[in-house]
Amino acid sequence: MKLTIVYDNERWSEGLVSDWGFSCLIQTDPVNILFDTGANGLLLLRNMNKLGVNPGIIDVVFISHGHWDHMGGLSSFLGVKQVPVILPASVRAPGRAEEVTKIKESVELYPGIYTTGELKGIEQSLVIRMGGELLVVVGCAHPGVANILKAASQYGEVAHLVGGLHGFDDFSLLEGLKTVCPVHCTQHKLDIKLFWPDKWVQGGVGRVLEFPEPVG
Ligand SMILES: [Zn+2]
Ligand SMILES: [Zn+2]
Repeated sequence: MKLTIVYDNERWSEGLVSDWGFSCLIQTDPVNILFDTGANGLLLLRNMNKLGVNPGIIDVVFISHGHWDHMGGLSSFLGVKQVPVILPASVRAPGRAEEVTKIKESVELYPGIYTTGELKGIEQSLVIRMGGELLVVVGCAHPGVANILKAASQYGEVAHLVGGLHGFDDFSLLEGLKTVCPVHCTQHKLDIKLFWPDKWVQGGVGRVLEFPEPVG
């Protein structure tokens, strides 16, 4: 399984453009998921193009929450490739979306791939099970990292966390994790790096992270 950051506040590779927002492509054997779409669809598509990612390979878009910096690019993306969209229950789908699934409760979306459900009425996170270990991908972590990790842990042990962590500063919560890749709105990136240098992974547009395939 391959996770490629295609939209982020920071840049990892030359030739890509950073902007406030987040999106990543998660390529697995059963399904290719676009997690969030950044703020600007043209920029999203441009970064994908530079990364050699054909939008045609994407099977589904998973939106963490309705904020513009995660959902702003959705309409433009659907103009290029019409795919099912998985949204938190409280978020209104754009007119272009033809097939929409609204999520309230935690559920298995594909074998070994789950949503935490819409937590605190605002945001869902993606959970991928790889054997006994979990990868959790978050948008802004508005419901709080502790609540997200707790919701995810019903499916196994959280080993990897990727995404925007906002003002999260209870770093001891990450003790059981193997890696953390704080991106986007994370205010304390440097502090996380200082606190957990062995777990910390640099993000940025163009960053590619490899994980084992999901196991249902
Ligand atoms: Zn955000
Ligand atoms: Zn947000």
